[in-house]
Amino acid sequence: MDLLSMVGMATKRRQDYMEQAKTLARKYKEQPRLEERMKAESLGLVKGLRDKLMKWGEYERTILDKTIVSALAACILGIKEDKSDRKLEKCWPIIVGDMLPPLTKFLAETKEYIDSGVLRLGDQTVDFADYNLLGAIPGAIDLDADVLEGVNPEEEGIQEATQQRAQGRSWPALAERVSRYLATPTFSFYNLGEYMVAQDVGYKDMRRVAREDKKTCVDCRNYDAQGWVPIGEMPMPGKGCRCYDRCRCYIEYR
Ligand SMILES: [Zn+2]
Ligand SMILES: [Zn+2]
Repeated sequence: MDLLSMVGMATKRRQDYMEQAKTLARKYKEQPRLEERMKAESLGLVKGLRDKLMKWGEYERTILDKTIVSALAACILGIKEDKSDRKLEKCWPIIVGDMLPPLTKFLAETKEYIDSGVLRLGDQTVDFADYNLLGAIPGAIDLDADVLEGVNPEEEGIQEATQQRAQGRSWPALAERVSRYLATPTFSFYNLGEYMVAQDVGYKDMRRVAREDKKTCVDCRNYDAQGWVPIGEMPMPGKGCRCYDRCRCYIEYR
């Protein structure tokens, strides 16, 4: 599916997505729980594709749906109040603009892997259970957020292809990558929801607080060191830093 079809499909289903996101947010209540849930779903989806429980078209649509619904649910959790529709509407174009272009490329790459036999459907030679994958551990959010700095989901795919890393550990590697659309971005969309509220409340300043451990990347450290700046003048966590969706900085307002 090309980007235009993807955006068209998402636009058509917008109201559905909003409703599903509200249900998801009510169910999981907190961003870390939502993230864990979406990691598990990433794994389930990739297994379903590998084990031929779903066809390519269904896999593609499901990933699109879940990417958007989980991002919206994360925004809702950040917004917190019940009457969040107006603020949620403001999150929509940001979600579509941030997520769908890389997702389109990612899915095209996966399809290529399958068509060229790098990923073999029905291949059970690698057991997902052999990998300490995804959200198996509660609190997986503390996993090395900044360790893999310098690699965004797209670059990761390119690297994987050039190094032919997808050979031996193909399907588990794919599950990990899917979770970078479905799961890890929930943190930054949660922050986006909070930002929408802070703007409305009329806060004037923001600051980005980095985790001050040795994994924190240099960009995040720099934002942290800048201290208070006028609201809107600093990129949100996951933006403008080399840890991308794995960034776990948070924002304070005043
Ligand atoms: Zn960083
Ligand atoms: Zn960060």
